[in-house]
Parts: sequence; structure tokens; C-alpha cells
Amino acid sequence: MSESKQLNVDTVIIGGGVAALWTANVLKRSGQSICVLSNSPLGEGQSLAAQGVIHGGLKYAAGGKLNEASEALAAMPSRWLDAMAGKGPVDLSGADLLCDHQVLWSLPTVVSQVISFFGSKAVRGRSAGIKRDAYPEVFRSPEYKGRLFRIDEPVVDPVSIVRELAAGVAQETWLVDWDSNISLEAGGKQVESITIIGDEGPVVLKAENYLLAAGAGNGPLLDRIGIATPEMQLRPLHQLIIRNDDLPDFYSVCVGNGPKPPLVSTTHTDSTGRKVWYIGGDIAEKDGVVRSESEQIEAGKALFKKVMPWVDLSGADWFTCRSERAEPLTGTGDRPAGAFCEKQGNVLIAWPTKLALAPDLADQALAHTGASANDTQACLGLPRPHLGTPPWDLT
Ligand SMILES: Cc1cc2nc3c(=O)[nH]c(=O)nc-3n(C[C@H](O)[C@H](O)[C@H](O)COP(=O)(O)OP(=O)(O)OC[C@H]3O[C@@H](n4cnc5c(N)ncnc54)[C@H](O)[C@@H]3O)c2cc1C
Repeated sequence: MSESKQLNVDTVIIGGGVAALWTANVLKRSGQSICVLSNSPLGEGQSLAAQGVIHGGLKYAAGGKLNEASEALAAMPSRWLDAMAGKGPVDLSGADLLCDHQVLWSLPTVVSQVISFFGSKAVRGRSAGIKRDAYPEVFRSPEYKGRLFRIDEPVVDPVSIVRELAAGVAQETWLVDWDSNISLEAGGKQVESITIIGDEGPVVLKAENYLLAAGAGNGPLLDRIGIATPEMQLRPLHQLIIRNDDLPDFYSVCVGNGPKPPLVSTTHTDSTGRKVWYIGGDIAEKDGVVRSESEQIEAGKALFKKVMPWVDLSGADWFTCRSERAEPLTGTGDRPAGAFCEKQGNVLIAWPTKLALAPDLADQALAHTGASANDTQACLGLPRPHLGTPPWDLT
């Protein structure tokens, strides 16, 4: 075997979703030399399965008070809109904003609570009632008896987001296969190096910091390095996808009787130009997760018939998509309040916990890694990863 070459960079980033790619752009822009190692097409995992809602925390203020989770999210819509306007360390000017707001609507049983919630102090200035003559097409029916409120939480297109983030670090991003061309040497809860066998021959990659931003892949990586805490939790979802040629736009959060919205809807366009409603919320959580695909479709049809009887979905194709949210274990089973980024030795353990919180994660990673000590543009001789496929293009 040929003699191995050693390359030194500031930060090696393991992962290929929004967390890895957003942070990679920020670290690169700060002057650091970086390498991004992804084991799959970019965005596969949670990022391309996301609905793309850039939460500002309103839904977490539902008790009428701001809490830690709503505070952590409050700045995110403007951070994202800045990036999409080409301002800031991450340039998302080529990505698509699907809608600059969502509408909040309610089941008939909770109309009065919703009106008082929107009058509450926690919410003022972050939403406004919508006049009936300005209702989006999907709610223009005499059968809808509730009110509609505008929430200033934008919805972005996760596919173009991943594409644009990837473009910013294309030269630094490599496709790795842990079963054949890459191995990680660790000792004393630290990473010593990563060995890569690419077209250039063996390369020993050493970094000041190793950022684990691999979503559900962080758990096995932590085991490999010998870091026992934080532990990882996985929270599954079973989303609905409704596809038809002529679906109107439907970006919404529905308020029901429980603490979680019965449904959250976003609208996307598949690769053949057909419209897709992508449905999450309570229907996709606990009970939804244990249902089979056909049971989940039946549950979805029943829910739409109950809450939106005026919408005709009889000609639509229905299918489902399963995915898992990966986060640090909280003990309560809930999502932690903000992005999680903890440094142990030379290892940074990162889960954004929300697509929306990627800027917060990158800020934390930058603060932990600091100034550049290397200026290597590492050539690893590995293939480059492609952009992954969103769930509505998988069937
Ligand atoms: C159905 C669904 C809907 C959601 N909707 C929203 C929303 O509307 N708004 C919002 O803010 N958040 C949303 N989220 C949460 C959001 O998608 C995630 O918080 C975010 O995408 C996580 O990004 P990530 O980069 O950490 O993980 P991922 O996107 O999962 O990326 C991790 C990547 O690392 C790669 N990887 C794994 N192991 C390794 C390894 N050993 N080596 C190299 N690479 C590895 C994986 O292949 C994967 O591509 C949603 C999540 C789900 C599942």
C-alpha cells in the first residue's frame, strides 16, 4: 500500500444535512479550513423530509406565555429571511421561499380560545387576523366557520435550501462509505484522526475539531468514540402526502383541543410539476406512527372529512412517509429548547433539533471552534455526494 499522506484542517464535519452544511458555510466564511464527510446523498435523513417551516416560536407560546423554546426560535425567521436575501454568512439567495407566512385556523370547538390566545401579550405583533375577503383559496367556503390568523413564520423549500448550502461548500464535501473507504481512530473520548482511502491513496485527516452533525448517525459515532453522554433520542413521524395536479396552496397550522396541532400543512411541487400537500402535526405523531401506511391514509382521509369537509380530495393520490427526528435525550421525551452543540475534548456533538435552528447551531459551533490554524484545501480523492430526493418524489 502507498505511504499515507497527512492533511490537517481546522474542522472536520461529519454529516450531510442542513446542520452540517449550514455550519460548514459559516466556518468556511470565518476563514477555517473544513472538510464535510457525508455518507449519503445530501439532505437524506431529516432535512429533505422537513416541512420547511421556519418557526418563530409562536406555537410554543400556546399557553399565552413565552417559554424557553419560543424565545430560542424568535430570531430564526429573520435570520433565514436575511440568508435568503443574500445577507449574512450563508447565501441562500438562490433558494425558494414557498410562502412568507402560515395561516392558523381552528376546529369549531376551540374558536373562542384561539381568539383570546391571539389577543394575548405573548402573541401581539407576531400575528394578525385575516379579513374574510383575503382568505386563501382553500378556506374560501361558507362551511369554514372559524377565523384565520396570519403567523409570520416563513416556509422554505428544503430541497433548494440543501442545494444552495451544498453549493457553498462543494469543494470541501465528500461522499464517504464507512464500510469501505474511511475509518475513524479514537481514544480517550477524542478523535485522533480519520483515515481515508480515495483515488489519491491513503490520507490521514487530522483536525483541531470534529463536528458530529450526522443526525441519527451521531449515536453510533458517539459509541465509536466512547462518549456516553449525551445519549441520542429518536422520535418517529409518519407524515401524509396528498398529491394532485391542482391543489391550492395550503400553509397552515390547525388548532384543536389538544396541546399539539392536529395537522400542520405545507405545499410543495414534485419533480413532474404536480402539487403536493405534506401533512404533519399530531396525525403524524404517536398514534400515526403505529399505523400501517393504509391505516394512516384512512386516518388522514377521515381527519380531512371532519375538519375540512368542503375540500374535495377524491381524485388525489395519498401516500405516507416515515422519518425519525434525532436529538439529545432530554428525559421528558420532548425536544430540547434550542439547538444543541456541546464540546467534549476535540469533539463537538450537534443536533439542531429543528431545521429552523440551524443558524443557532452554527453560531455555537463557531464559538466553540474559534480561529483558523490551518489553510489546507484537502483533496481526499473521494466521490462527491449528489443532492438527495424529497419524500414526495420517492413514489
Ligand atoms: C418529517 C419531519 C418534518 C420536519 N419539519 C420541520 C419543519 O417544518 N421545521 C423545522 O424547523 N424542522 C423540521 N424538522 C426537523 C428538521 O428536519 C431537523 O431538525 C433537521 O433537518 C436536522 O438536520 P441534521 O442535518 O441534523 O440531520 P439530517 O438531515 O438527518 O442529516 C444528517 C445527515 O448525516 C448523514 N450521516 C449519518 N451518519 C453519518 C456518518 N457516520 N458519516 C457521514 N454522514 C452521516 C446522514 O446520511 C444525513 O444525510 C422536521 C423533521 C422531520 C423528520
